[in-house]
Amino acid sequence: MSARVLDGTAVARSLLARTAERAGAFTAAAGRTPTLATVLVGDDPASRTYVKMKRNRCAAVGIGSRAVELPAETTTERLVAEITALSTDPDVDGILLQHPVPAHIDERAAFEAIAPGKDVDGVTMHSFAAMAFGEPGFHSCTPGGILRLLDAYDIPLAGRRAVVVGRSPILGKPVGMLLLARDATVTYCHSRTADLAAVVREADVVVAAVGKPELVRGEWIKPGAVVVDAGYNPGNVGDVEYAAAAERAGFITPVPGGVGPMTVALLLAQTVSAAEATR
Ligand code: NAP
Repeated sequence: MSARVLDGTAVARSLLARTAERAGAFTAAAGRTPTLATVLVGDDPASRTYVKMKRNRCAAVGIGSRAVELPAETTTERLVAEITALSTDPDVDGILLQHPVPAHIDERAAFEAIAPGKDVDGVTMHSFAAMAFGEPGFHSCTPGGILRLLDAYDIPLAGRRAVVVGRSPILGKPVGMLLLARDATVTYCHSRTADLAAVVREADVVVAAVGKPELVRGEWIKPGAVVVDAGYNPGNVGDVEYAAAAERAGFITPVPGGVGPMTVALLLAQTVSAAEATR
C-alpha cells in the first residue's frame, strides 16, 4: 500500500486565493489594505528567512506588511513597548512576533502584549483559552493549518484515536485540543513517554511535532493511519521516517509541502479576518 499525499501546497494555494479575494474586497470597502506587522528581533538567519517569506506572501495576496526589526540586545521592556504600540495602531490589523526571540527576552511577556484582536498567529493566552473553550478566536497557525488540511481531504476524526507527539504551547498542545474538539480520542506523547512506539502503533491519526529528524519510524505506523508531520529539520527532513511511513499510511503529509504552507496561509487568512472585524 502507498499513502495518498496530503498536499499542503495545493490546499494552501486555494486558501490563499480566497484570502486574496477577501483582502481585495476589504481594501475596496475600507480604503486601506489589511496589514500585518512582523516583528523580528536579532539576526537569526532562519527567522529572517521565515519573516521575509511571510512578508512576500502578504504582498502576493494584497495584504500590506509593516516590518519592525530590532537588534538582538533589545530588552523585554523595549519589545513589549513596540508591540503595545502596534496593538493600539489603527492601521495594523495583525501582529506576528517571529519566535524564538533571543534567550534574555521574556517571550511570554512579549506575546501577551499582542492585543487579542490582532493575535493572528494565535500565540496569546487569550487565543489559547478561546480555542480550549471552543469560543471564536484565532487559532495557533500550525495546529489550525493542520485541521484545515485534514478537512480538505474529508478525513474523519470523531471516535478515532489520535496520538500527538510533542506538547509545546504553540503546536503539540493546541493541535491535540483541536482534535479533541472534533471528538477524536487524543493521547499526548512527550520526552518522558514510556514506549513511544507502542503508543504510536495504536493511532489512527498521528501528528508528529517534535523537531527530531525521523523520530517516528515507519514501522510504528498502523496500516491505513493518517500521518501528519509538522516537524521541519535541517535538510528538509521531517519528524517521520517518510518513505517507510508512506508504505503503511493511508494519508501522509510530505516535508516540505505539507504542514508548512498551511501555516502561512492560515496566518494571512486570519489577518484578513482581523481586518474585517474592525468594520
Ligand atoms: P518544541 O517546543 O521544542 O517542542 C518539542 C516537543 O517534542 C516537546 O513537547 C518535547 O517533549 C517533545 N519531545 C522531544 N523529544 C522527544 C522524544 N524523544 N519523544 C517524544 N517527544 C519528544 O518544538 P515545537 O516548536 O513544538 O516544534 C516542533 C517541530 O515542529 C520542529 O521541527 C519545528 O521546526 C516544527 N514546526 C513547524 C512549523 C510549521 O509551520 N511547519 C511551525 C512550528 C514548528 P517535552 O515537552 O517533554 O520536552
